[in-house]
Amino acid sequence: MRPTAPPSGSSSRPGRGVLQYARTQYARTRVPASGPPAASAVDLHAHTTASDGALTPPRLVALAVARGLRVLGVTDHDTVAGVEEALGAAGSGLRVIPGVELSAHVEAGEVHVLGYFVDPRSPVLLDALARLRAARGDRARQMVAQLARAGAPVTHEQVLAIAGEGAIGRPHVARALVQAGHAASIDDAFERYLVRGRPGYVERYRLSPAAAVQLVRGAGGAPVLAHPHTVADLPALLPELVAAGLAGLECYYGDYDEPTTRDLLAEAARYDLVPTGGTDFHGLGTSHGRDLGATPVPNECVAQLEARRG
Ligand code: AMP
Ligand code: ZN
Ligand code: FE
Ligand code: FE
Repeated sequence: MRPTAPPSGSSSRPGRGVLQYARTQYARTRVPASGPPAASAVDLHAHTTASDGALTPPRLVALAVARGLRVLGVTDHDTVAGVEEALGAAGSGLRVIPGVELSAHVEAGEVHVLGYFVDPRSPVLLDALARLRAARGDRARQMVAQLARAGAPVTHEQVLAIAGEGAIGRPHVARALVQAGHAASIDDAFERYLVRGRPGYVERYRLSPAAAVQLVRGAGGAPVLAHPHTVADLPALLPELVAAGLAGLECYYGDYDEPTTRDLLAEAARYDLVPTGGTDFHGLGTSHGRDLGATPVPNECVAQLEARRG
């Protein structure tokens, strides 16, 4: 059932909190209006201000309701800080799945492991996340120092102010670079300074992909490999993660085309993994991630995933 009227706070005029946030933190960010109904009833991959998303958890929930979504996965990078607020904001029409997106280290770069149905109060999870976030803080400081040496100074205070409560990441540094006039856009800032091999890039402590899978299991959740098409050596990694307890594969992602999704569905079937999906919505106005609900995801994956939790 689709809600007949938008809930309070989800009108096309954003609430004061969001407006203020947009002005101070993401002045050039387009905060999405409610818009037409989403293509999908399920979106299992979305970010909030708890990491590098533009919308607070209640605003993300309000947008999901306004779009007619029935299930929303809240999956911030290396934190569950937005989960309880999102759960609290959701009414009976929308089911919020507590989630997390862990960044893990591989030789060729990075792999992301999503965790669904995790207990947001799990001490083992919170402990590991605190370490990951501390590493993010240290890295931000080093990035600022390297950028100064590269002739693109931004202040640490500015980056902290942009990140706010959020797990600090490269998108926040990118925003600072744009504000300081060193880059024309977020994408430009990444290209020139923040991708691997550029002067502002700094490695940070990350889990191994298998450890990330086990951590999600330890917190009672179902681990899913995110955007698998970006994984450098998927044929080698998949069996290793399956052995570690992987439950699902993100087969429907962003703007993956049909052949890509078909290939991934075949891999999921081969390893008996639940095919999941989502948009990776950030609301940041960057090229990364699609609009909330824009990627069609089959409803049945939610129950299948839930059956594999823990
Ligand atoms: P971090 O976890 O701090 O290393 O930052 C990674 C995040 O930066 C990703 O999840 C994306 O949201 C964003 N990102 C990565 N690459 C780009 C890019 N080329 N342009 C814009 N945003 C990007
Ligand atoms: Zn992100
Ligand atoms: Fe990701
Ligand atoms: Fe993501």
